[in-house]
Amino acid sequence: MENTQTSDKAAGRDFIRRIIDEDVKENRHGGKVVTRFPPEPNGFLHIGHAKSICLNFGIAEEYKGQCHLRFDDTDPTKEDVKYENSIEQDVKWLGFDWGKNLFHASDYFEKMFEFAVGLIKKGKAYVCGLNEEEIREYRGTVTAPGRISPYASRPVSEHLDLFQRMKAGEFPDGKYVVRARIDMASSNMKMRDPLLYRIRHAHHYRTGGKWCIYPMYDYAHPISDAIEGITHSICTLEFENNRELYDWVLNQIDGHFPYLPHQYEFARLDLQYTVMSKRKLLQLVEKQIVSGWDDPRLPTIAGLRRRGCTPESIRKFCELVGIAKANSSVEMSQLEFCLRDDLNTKAPRVLAVLRPLKVVIDNYPEGQTESLEGSYWPHDIPKTGSRPIPFTREIYIEKDDFMENPPKDFFRLAPGREVRLRYAYCITCTHVDKDPVTGEILAVHCTYDPETKSGTAPAGRKVKGTIHWVSSESPTAEVRLYDRLLSDSHSDADFLSQINPNSLETLTDCRVEPSLQNAGHGDRFQFERQGYFFVDPVDSKPGKLVFNRIVTLKDSWAKKQTK
Ligand code: ATP
Ligand code: MG
Repeated sequence: MENTQTSDKAAGRDFIRRIIDEDVKENRHGGKVVTRFPPEPNGFLHIGHAKSICLNFGIAEEYKGQCHLRFDDTDPTKEDVKYENSIEQDVKWLGFDWGKNLFHASDYFEKMFEFAVGLIKKGKAYVCGLNEEEIREYRGTVTAPGRISPYASRPVSEHLDLFQRMKAGEFPDGKYVVRARIDMASSNMKMRDPLLYRIRHAHHYRTGGKWCIYPMYDYAHPISDAIEGITHSICTLEFENNRELYDWVLNQIDGHFPYLPHQYEFARLDLQYTVMSKRKLLQLVEKQIVSGWDDPRLPTIAGLRRRGCTPESIRKFCELVGIAKANSSVEMSQLEFCLRDDLNTKAPRVLAVLRPLKVVIDNYPEGQTESLEGSYWPHDIPKTGSRPIPFTREIYIEKDDFMENPPKDFFRLAPGREVRLRYAYCITCTHVDKDPVTGEILAVHCTYDPETKSGTAPAGRKVKGTIHWVSSESPTAEVRLYDRLLSDSHSDADFLSQINPNSLETLTDCRVEPSLQNAGHGDRFQFERQGYFFVDPVDSKPGKLVFNRIVTLKDSWAKKQTK
């Protein structure tokens, strides 16, 4: 058993794919595989949706089938075309294509209405005038059966008449609902005469004012699936109890379709230290706790894209997380692993100083500029290319690469100590300039050893540390460093009080090597020792460079070198 599971996993065969393998083998659904991704256009997609997208579109690709993009636009009060547009953009960006198969639940409103009339005629549905509270009370509890609505026993003709009048707009919101007539004593609460339609006098972004009755998810979804010829309707675990109702609805309309779809449930993705529900994300956006749906701290696809994550790394992450039947939460470090793994071979290495400290090399000729060569790629990446890096008498290094009174195991710059400058010379600190009032170090003075060009080891001396630097004539840039959105690993109802106050740190006085002067939108770099960075697609402009840190580096040199 253990072995089959391991080999299934190794071959990318999760339980859903194994079911499909079997269905294809048995030639069920005429051998077809048709899936769908059915978002409600009421918010932006997040990385949890990416898991569902990768699964549904991935299956369609693997089995040479189709995956439909279907908007579940059944609640006009919350939905908007702007969300629909963002969802289309996100799915495409993730690398998937629905071709001509773009649909809306609202395409089928007419059909759904007809089916509902049919159900009423068969005594399988009725118009109920109980209010929300009464319906809840009549429903009973998990331990006590419910009671049948007094409306259920009224004649069919009356229900048909009321349903038509509901549709015609004669009643206000909440006055009537249509319910399936199933079983008020069912152990599955979803089967206790569930709602099929409700009245909503609201403008729908697609159907306008045509309808004022809207189908509920549990009714609209199976019908949409059946109409589109979906074979495998994959959703998340919280819909497990809805499956019985899904099948009930399909049974009622059986005979209209060549085959009926099946619902399968998998565990939803839950990422730690962030929120993963559109309702919560919407609150963060509306309360302006974040800068918008594309704030790089958010786990939205738009946020991840703006931060600089690649679609490949998100797809890889979804694959790594896998498809399972049990809910669990995933550590952010898994996503970070995928990002580093992908960016390692894609992002050229460059030098940038995030918190600059001036270094004056006193024995270097004033006014001289030397052009050094820096490779864009380390030896283990099979890519070539380099750029010139100017070296001058005044340069910047990171503030924390210098210590006035360092411990013994500090191998970077300190008075009397020698350090190697990446691609350049070894320098030795002679003294510092301090602000006479605050004591703050204003500049570090050094001498360089001309014999150590390109990092050549100095004769007879050991230089352990290598630090990055840029010439003082380098362009400035703004750099945004991101940390976890929440300070707790799991968000609770009070997640607004869990916001990590340090989730965004903006550094406005960074210096980047001159080759980055013309860095443009879409560019990603590794700033050596600092992480992977992305040119912010919104705020970065010619003359004002803005970089987002995508992810830190796993092994920073500094860490290794102080050990
Ligand atoms: P949320 O709960 O985050 O608001 P939702 O389920 O309401 O999301 P829908 O637009 O209805 O959002 O979701 C579209 C599809 O994406 C559904 O099939 C749903 O099961 C799936 N999905 C949503 N969240 C996740 C998740 N965290 N992991 C995997 N799939 C998800
Ligand atoms: Mg939903």
